Amino acid sequence: MAKVLIVGAGGVGAVVAHKCAQVPEVFTDITLASRTKSKCDAIAAQISRPIHTAQVDADNEKEMADLIRRTGAEMVINVALPYQDLHIMNACLETGVNYLDTANYEPPDEAKFCYKWQWEYQERFKKAGLMALLGSGFDPGVTNVFAAWAQKHHFDEIHDLDIIDANAGSHGQPFATNFNPEINIREVTARGRYWEKGEWISTDPLSVSETFEFPEGIGPMKIYLLYHEELESLTKNIRGLKRARFWMTFSDNYLKHLEVLQNVGMTRIDPVKFEGHDIVPLKFLKALLPDPASLGPLTKGRTCIGDLMTGVKNGKPKKLYVYNICDHEACYREVQSQAISYTTGVPAMIGAMLMLTGSWKGRGVFNMEQLDPDPFMDKLNKHGLPWTAVELK
Ligand code: NDP
Repeated sequence: MAKVLIVGAGGVGAVVAHKCAQVPEVFTDITLASRTKSKCDAIAAQISRPIHTAQVDADNEKEMADLIRRTGAEMVINVALPYQDLHIMNACLETGVNYLDTANYEPPDEAKFCYKWQWEYQERFKKAGLMALLGSGFDPGVTNVFAAWAQKHHFDEIHDLDIIDANAGSHGQPFATNFNPEINIREVTARGRYWEKGEWISTDPLSVSETFEFPEGIGPMKIYLLYHEELESLTKNIRGLKRARFWMTFSDNYLKHLEVLQNVGMTRIDPVKFEGHDIVPLKFLKALLPDPASLGPLTKGRTCIGDLMTGVKNGKPKKLYVYNICDHEACYREVQSQAISYTTGVPAMIGAMLMLTGSWKGRGVFNMEQLDPDPFMDKLNKHGLPWTAVELK
């Protein structure tokens, strides 16, 4: 039915390729392209159905547009890095194809998560009659859809939203990140920020923490307040919201290593002169750390990501927790990746499927909660990320 071009052959790209290949009735023709073609070929070799592979530097808009034309793709699933977002959006506009990503644009020289740059494409996509779907991963992505679904079916107004992301698994490495180390460390070392009564409140990095009791035997874990990009769109699109926060778990071991790396300057993103060369310490650190895609066979345990919401329904207070639990080893058995890549890649495939089948359509730039949550919630249950909704006292 449709030709699709996946850009990026890292941990997430591998899952997207596997999951698209599992739905041949929608994704009839798949091309996986990335900067390093050998990574695409290695992923293609894991998949029983033939898929095409290609080399592309997505920062080169002409190269990107030529590849889109060559493949005849109807849409691009961008799972390269956030730095590529605007270049790929430009190539999509130039060639007249739809666009989807899982992370908002970040300028390479500034750790800043902000939809401004991509929202500025609204008129151009509208005028071209094209759709750009932003943030179709888990968080952002599924967490936005959980909030939209709760708003549609369970609340007149949601007042408090806490998005809580736990990785209760372990890869056994002294220090490694579960997705791209550069992006992960930029996110975690940034100042925390949450939204309350119409204002953003800023906190020192990792300075606010609580203990949260996770369901289904995971138990209590310490969660840390972070700024996360979905808060920006959700605070605009969920009615009645008074407070919105994002929380994530980190092991003491991860935090210990991160503190030392920060103290010695290894997380800096500005270039430093070293023996006549300019090097960016965080990029150099990335080269030393385990490739997240290599953690698949090593990671055990589960993730639990969900939205805890309080608000009112029919004049009565209501508290609802909607979450997914995902098992690292089960993901590896299915697609040879750990659960962090899996929980991002599956929603990217589902977003693309809804766009290609016309369940989700529109002209312009959309965040996930602006579309009907029902078909997405249904597909999560069918494609490996079943969710649970519980009403709490
Ligand atoms: P990886 O670093 O594992 O993979 C990134 C891939 O992009 C690599 O194959 C890399 O190629 C490729 N790439 C980088 N630059 C270019 C370029 N200029 N042209 C073409 N390809 C390029 O990252 P992940 O797979 O872990 O993450 C992918 C995306 O998913 C990121 O944007 C990340 O922020 C997002 N994400 C979103 C989550 C969510 O829940 N919403 C959660 C986790 C991740 P090469 O190998 O040659 O470097």
